[in-house]
Amino acid sequence: MIALSLAEIATVVGGQTYDIPDPQVQVTAPVVRDSREVEPGGLFAAFVGERVDGHDYAAQVVGAGAVAVLGTRPCGVPAIVVDDVPRALGALARHVVARLGATLVALTGSAGKTSTKDLVAQVIGRKAPTVWTPGSLNNEIGLPLTALSATDETKFLVLEMGARGIGHIRYLTELTPPRIGLVLNVGTAHIGEFGGREQIAQAKGELVEALPADGAAILNADDPLVRAMASRTKARVLLFGEAADADVRAENVRLTENGQPSFTLTTPTGCSDVRLRLYGEHHVSNALAAAAVAHELGMSVEEIALALSEAGTLSRWRMEVTERPDGVTVVNDAYNANPESMRAALRALAAMGRAAQAEGGRTWAVLGHMAELGDDGLAEHDAVGRLAVRLNVNKLVAVGGREASWLQLGAYNEGSWGEESVHVSDAQAAVDLLRSELRPGDVVLVKASRSVGLERVALALLENT
Ligand code: ATP
Ligand code: MG
Repeated sequence: MIALSLAEIATVVGGQTYDIPDPQVQVTAPVVRDSREVEPGGLFAAFVGERVDGHDYAAQVVGAGAVAVLGTRPCGVPAIVVDDVPRALGALARHVVARLGATLVALTGSAGKTSTKDLVAQVIGRKAPTVWTPGSLNNEIGLPLTALSATDETKFLVLEMGARGIGHIRYLTELTPPRIGLVLNVGTAHIGEFGGREQIAQAKGELVEALPADGAAILNADDPLVRAMASRTKARVLLFGEAADADVRAENVRLTENGQPSFTLTTPTGCSDVRLRLYGEHHVSNALAAAAVAHELGMSVEEIALALSEAGTLSRWRMEVTERPDGVTVVNDAYNANPESMRAALRALAAMGRAAQAEGGRTWAVLGHMAELGDDGLAEHDAVGRLAVRLNVNKLVAVGGREASWLQLGAYNEGSWGEESVHVSDAQAAVDLLRSELRPGDVVLVKASRSVGLERVALALLENT
């Protein structure tokens, strides 16, 4: 964090100070909410959870070098006391980013925020010091904590913004006003809470409404609801996608033999070939979005193409490919799933498996349910089961309850699949089955919505390897 005195912090957050011998002492290290992450010179934000009360760690964090605690009650150590810790962090973040000389890039969308944020950070991070959201910390707590981790050296701040309702993104943009705003797509994530795709578009579009006239709105040309957001911003609009009129485009998109996409990237400065190290064609759209941000920040097409081709995954359980010593390949995409990403992951599995199949190996799709599909649930699961058959996947292991049976039904209806598909009740049953069945050369994709926790299968398969 940039250096701020406790007195200044207390004023900014409207807090009362307790047990502070010298209000001019400065906070110089990051603000954290996990006592194990405290650094000397830092500030500890105490949250009261259902099981843990952060205030109980007050003595410990001060012992570890924290300058003070920001919490909701005095706790016997130097403290700034407020009514609402998230609001206080937000106010502090707003104060700090106004003082930074950094360009703020914010991005939102239904799927691919974290993947794209990681790509953006790896590409523009080559040009200047960059700070980005760790993992998926994209809400009213994670966003201020990320912003507060910036320092005087930071030139770019890349922020993932999530929304579970109208007004959420607007609030986040008030804390950290972006100059560049990127909207990836409007899908069906959290559709139950929003009420419909139009409402989701309304909520995501708050990002471009917040941009200044000299800013840039970077919009997905291939998603009609995102493209339509152009009318909601004062900022210049830059389109990315496969559409012919996109400013940043991909041409000759193909999946290489191991499932990694390659394409020709075109930006207003020219064109250059990209071969991603990521798996699944949905990453083409994410890569184009990152390229558009980098272009806006003055990078040439060659610099961008090289950076994209060298970028890896920064966040776990997203198409993480690991080959075991015995020659079984595990593709852990268990972080989350929606119909689009299920299809993309299956296509990547098919591409990766082609060479393996020629050598006698088999492809396995270990899939669990896709959440929040409402009335489309049956049709979408059925379609995924059918696609597995059409892509010549060898085995389907459907994990879980009713939705898993729909996956299996799709496979049965498409290909009269009998023993090629198995329905098991839970992750442990899938692990037991796979442990006894897998052979060298097999490729196993593991994917489901977050709530299924299917990474347990991938992690178990990789244990002791
Ligand atoms: P969250 O809302 O949980 O933070 P997110 O928007 O940050 O999610 P990621 O974590 O990048 O998204 O990806 C989540 C899952 O969505 C991935 O496992 C992948 O399968 C899928 N995904 C990633 N990019 C896209 C995309 N452009 N279109 C559709 N699905 C995608
Ligand atoms: Mg995320």
